[in-house]
Amino acid sequence: MAKSTPEETSIAPEVLAKYEPVIGLEVHVQLLTRTKIFCGCSTRFGDPPNTNVCPVCLGLPGTLPVLNKRAVEMGMRASLALHCTVHDHSRFARKNYFYPDLPKGYQISQYELPLATGGWLEIEVGGARKRIGITRLHLEEDAAKNLHEGFSQSATKAYIDYNRCGTPLSEIVSEPDMRTPEEAYAYLTTLRQILLYTGVSDVNMEDGSLRCDANVSVRLRGAKEFGTKVEVKNLNSFRYLQKALEYEIERHIGVLESGGRISQETRLWNQAESHTVSMRSKEKAHDYRYFPEPDLLPVHISEAWRSEVRRTLPELPEAKRARFVSSYGITPYDAEVLTSTQALADYFEAVVKAGAPGKAAANWMQTELLRGLKDSGKEIGASPITPAALAELVKLVESSQITGAIGKKVFATMFASGRSAAEIVAVEGLGAQVSDAAIEQAARDVIAKNPDNVAKFKSGNEGVFKFFVGQVMKATRGQANPQAVNDILRKLLS
Ligand code: ADP
Ligand code: ZN
Ligand code: MG
Repeated sequence: MAKSTPEETSIAPEVLAKYEPVIGLEVHVQLLTRTKIFCGCSTRFGDPPNTNVCPVCLGLPGTLPVLNKRAVEMGMRASLALHCTVHDHSRFARKNYFYPDLPKGYQISQYELPLATGGWLEIEVGGARKRIGITRLHLEEDAAKNLHEGFSQSATKAYIDYNRCGTPLSEIVSEPDMRTPEEAYAYLTTLRQILLYTGVSDVNMEDGSLRCDANVSVRLRGAKEFGTKVEVKNLNSFRYLQKALEYEIERHIGVLESGGRISQETRLWNQAESHTVSMRSKEKAHDYRYFPEPDLLPVHISEAWRSEVRRTLPELPEAKRARFVSSYGITPYDAEVLTSTQALADYFEAVVKAGAPGKAAANWMQTELLRGLKDSGKEIGASPITPAALAELVKLVESSQITGAIGKKVFATMFASGRSAAEIVAVEGLGAQVSDAAIEQAARDVIAKNPDNVAKFKSGNEGVFKFFVGQVMKATRGQANPQAVNDILRKLLS
């Protein structure tokens, strides 16, 4: 495979614009269960290699799998949150292939009768919302992990850790509904958020609990038929997904423009070299010889079980965003940020419940709080400032008992010390402590020094009023009550 240089892939924008990319994603997520899908071994991540294994997950002869009900339930939660139909009957199948990470010589998966089909999720890109179809969600077992580095004889040998073998996975296949790398990125982040909210998976791409393969093709805009697709693997971050798609789309267009055709194949993303390389062609694709798994009964899901699982689903991000906008008067953007995790959303609602106005609470959280957490490497759950304590600070500022500038200083002290806003304001003497007489004196000085602006104001230029407020606040070193400054200036200028 010849290495592509950037020159080869830089195609004129008007040429790129003639084509429409088509993208569909296949996502594997590790389901959050304590034990594996067909045995009682622990699914804990990071244990010493080959310590969480037993005859079943090592594929020893004579052993039988027993389905973990919790894994089915997790799959159902994801399916219902993705608006899929969870089928009354589904079935496991053997997917046959020979590789050392698969001790049985086959993977137990679902094929003809998956757990769920026909759902969707909604993404937002550049302010526009769009539905992306979910073709199917099925259950399967994970394979072992090959370790190619870190052992004494790694240069000549491959090592295998079977701890991961038999971990429950759910594969979620999208419809080919995405049209840009940004949409694919948005799909994956939205899916991740739904899986986090529902507690189905911890969806960590770095640890491999979320893995994504991208299918991509291009066609001339307006064409009815899809182009030939290529599957790209080895995308272990959200950024790589987007970069690999951008690369692959340009590569397809380059090939088509120069009169060639795309061959259906699987390619690997090479991050170090920022390109994809061919892994296997369609002709060499595996024939998995699927057949129904004889050692497991079909899965039956009653209406009662389905409703029970549905009942325990939390409010999902989309619904929460809409409710935040309508109930708290915050912008869709604010709602988006504040619902990015359930913990952040809960924190926000607690601040509002403790009496802070929604808009102000949203602002303080998105600036000071998120910055403080980020700088100190803390999660919202470990915030040194409780929602009630933040609400107290917000109220002090909103009622002009302290200025916004002082409020920020108080926030920093609260964050560092865990002390309350009222206490810090009292002890450090930060309350609005400039007397009305002092404000009036400062206001008279400012008016006397700026006759031009006084004239402008008197001739109806209301915008100049802000100038006076700013000057008086400056003269009182930001410690005056802004409301009092406003009132006094109005009086003097009228
Ligand atoms: P395969 O038989 O190769 O597994 P599927 O039809 O099962 O292909 O689709 C696998 C994934 O590829 C799905 O996510 C689907 O949306 C996507 N896909 C199918 N056809 C195309 C295409 N022409 N371009 C881009 N993605 C596609
Ligand atoms: Zn086991
Ligand atoms: Mg397929």
